[in-house]
Amino acid sequence: MIYLDYQATTPVAPEVAHAMQPWIAEKFANPHSPSRWGNEAEAVIEVARKQVETALNLKGGSIAFTGSATEALNWALKGTVEKAPKGRNRIITVATEHAAVLDTCEWLADNGIDLTILPVEPDGRLDLELLARELDDRVLLVAVMQVNNEIGVTQPISEIANMAHECGALMLCDAVQAFGRMEICKGPDLVAISAHKVFGPKAIGALWMRKGAEPAPFIHGGGQERGLRSGTLSPALCVGFGAAAKLADERQTRDYDHVQKLWKAAIQALGPEWIINGSVAHRYHGNLNIRRKGIDAARLLAELRDIAFSLGSACASGSGRPSHVLRALGLDYRESRSCIRLGFGRYTTQHELVDACGRIATHARTQEKLSA
Ligand code: PLP
Repeated sequence: MIYLDYQATTPVAPEVAHAMQPWIAEKFANPHSPSRWGNEAEAVIEVARKQVETALNLKGGSIAFTGSATEALNWALKGTVEKAPKGRNRIITVATEHAAVLDTCEWLADNGIDLTILPVEPDGRLDLELLARELDDRVLLVAVMQVNNEIGVTQPISEIANMAHECGALMLCDAVQAFGRMEICKGPDLVAISAHKVFGPKAIGALWMRKGAEPAPFIHGGGQERGLRSGTLSPALCVGFGAAAKLADERQTRDYDHVQKLWKAAIQALGPEWIINGSVAHRYHGNLNIRRKGIDAARLLAELRDIAFSLGSACASGSGRPSHVLRALGLDYRESRSCIRLGFGRYTTQHELVDACGRIATHARTQEKLSA
């Protein structure tokens, strides 16, 4: 099998599995217990916290571990609304955000928040003049992602954060697809990340919070994570997240250069008939979302079962619904059904990628001939 679905999840790095092993197989203490074993577990969690914070490289705040980035985003949005100053009742977000942001915002709108969802340009970027026109002193929070999970397009997060701050609003950034792959933009007050997109384990994420911008607690209980996020932490998952973050930080240039080479090789192997969805310049190049006129992408996926690629986000793929991101770019129904997403990275070899792209191109050509 050739794995080309790095936006859905990444393989666990061997170094990460190795670091987690004792905390799965042998060491079981509750990190919040006062025993020597408990203290040891607590100490490794604190090392992991530092590793994640160092890789994030943001000043003036700290992280709390969460059960996923979805939880971190729910917490950031709902907890900020709970603490909203009088008169600030608006949230501004973007049509291409992940469901963890959009669905939470819709829920908040059903519960009294004034929600504005901004469209994007045909290249997937937000028009900052449009944002400027929307900002006023009723805005509580602006939520924009750094790298889009479906099309890889990046947004100018630091500029957006400055604009939000100028009108007294906070800025939340979903940095799930950026963390460990590129520099995290400075400026936001709240940043959500997830371990399983950076060669770490699933079911652990984190919310970075600027000091003073902490949302109200979302999960109540034993008062862990400074009383902000209750629940016994898993030393194994925290250690895995920390090891993955450290590795990504150390390998950032190497991983980046590898991805650039893979991107060029994939484009060449696919041939000229494919159109790239979203900006090429403002993009993470480990995400190649493309379309080809007249092909049925779902059929392509079914015909090439030994290549793991996708039609969009893992969450939307099963639903049969056309992707909200592709529709936001202005693609019509037929066009959005002729798109595939190839995601590659650290462990992808050029050889397997070229092989997969060649086969995808051949099958697409055959489809084209049959339907002509
Ligand atoms: N945000 C983005 C951009 C994502 O790609 C994902 C994962 O698909 C999430 C949020 C949710 O992350 P998690 O799987 O940790 O809940």
